[in-house]
Amino acid sequence: MENNDFDIVVIGSGVIGHSIAFRLKQDDPQLKIAVLGDPVNSLQASRAAAGMLAPFCECDKADRFFKFCRESLDKFPEFLRELVSVSEVPVHFSIEGSLMPSSSYREAWEERKVFFAEEDIPHEVWSSDKVRQKAPYLSDNCGEVMWVREGQVNNRQMHDALIQASRNLGNHVLEANVSGFIRKGSTLASAVTDSGNINGGQFVLASGSWSSQLARVLEVSIPMKPIKGQMCRVQLEDHFMDYTLHGKMTYIAPWREGNGFVIGSTMEDKGFDPSVEDGVIDRLIANAAEILPCLKSAPLIESWAGMRPAAEDLMPIMGKSGRYDNLFYSSGHYRNGILLTPNQADYMSGLIRQTLDNENSEFSPSRYDL
Ligand SMILES: Cc1cc2nc3c(=O)[nH]c(=O)nc-3n(C[C@H](O)[C@H](O)[C@H](O)COP(=O)(O)OP(=O)(O)OC[C@H]3O[C@@H](n4cnc5c(N)ncnc54)[C@H](O)[C@@H]3O)c2cc1C
Repeated sequence: MENNDFDIVVIGSGVIGHSIAFRLKQDDPQLKIAVLGDPVNSLQASRAAAGMLAPFCECDKADRFFKFCRESLDKFPEFLRELVSVSEVPVHFSIEGSLMPSSSYREAWEERKVFFAEEDIPHEVWSSDKVRQKAPYLSDNCGEVMWVREGQVNNRQMHDALIQASRNLGNHVLEANVSGFIRKGSTLASAVTDSGNINGGQFVLASGSWSSQLARVLEVSIPMKPIKGQMCRVQLEDHFMDYTLHGKMTYIAPWREGNGFVIGSTMEDKGFDPSVEDGVIDRLIANAAEILPCLKSAPLIESWAGMRPAAEDLMPIMGKSGRYDNLFYSSGHYRNGILLTPNQADYMSGLIRQTLDNENSEFSPSRYDL
């Protein structure tokens, strides 16, 4: 095998691509794996995200997607234990839970309570009096508040850890931009990059919002677009609040360790527009301050924009191509790609190594004839 020959070539160096490479190499150390990524991509979602691990606040019906998200949350502690042990990069993770103020949910509030009870989701409903004891920093207007057991991770640290873990396990991390492919009939032979051709036995397209551009080179049309999110991070004392807050059109996520609190986020259908607008950031902070008033005076640390990869039906696209013999997709993780990372990595490793028992038709590329 030559230097540029790999068993598996993963295209995309966000959390999705790197976690697949990490899990594959752990499952089969003999595999020679390359991860190709565009190093100047400042809009990638994996570093833009808030790191909420929130299947319960995000979903309102118990479909296959909800179950997949829930399984992924359950896998997080063990996944991070392995990741930190291999990478030696610390990753902040908390399972303190989320708070949902009833004032933000209004008519949907009772439905949320029923859903949480029916699905046996670990939660508590706090009366206004209890809120004053347990979370006195919340606005008095929040009313009843639901505490739900879900998680929070520092996704930038997790991304750093994944890259380092891949390297430590012997994967090749190449800062290369893929512009095309060399094909032999319905088989992909090489990815064409600015650093030369990278030959592979199997290819995984895990390029987030850019997956549809790359697929076009293969004459495949993925109905996917970037949904832009503007976000910011403010300074508040570390132990000020342990919970993640989910309000109306707002969330506030504690990054701890002196890293302040992340406030999100917009949902904008504007293509790959990288702009960050002061007025939008001011509005995000003002919305968040309606439930957490002290945010009004919290110093701004930074603001940014990132692209959520959204398929037409807002479901992930994970599985084997029907058009190319040796191509797999893992993309379209939209608002929950950080949460989905561990379960997605297991799923894709199983698919690629042909050890997976149950393939999910809801996630299959075949629904779009890919
Ligand atoms: C503002 C915002 C907030 C979010 N908050 C959360 C949250 O709280 N919880 C949660 O679970 N999820 C959240 N998400 C969603 C989550 O971040 C994404 O679903 C996830 O990061 C997608 O990861 P990815 O690796 O597929 O894509 P990305 O992270 O976008 O990575 C794509 C990779 O492909 C590479 N690439 C692109 N084109 C090429 C090319 N031609 N050649 C080589 N490489 C290429 C890029 O450089 C990049 O490395 C959020 C997203 C955003 C934008």
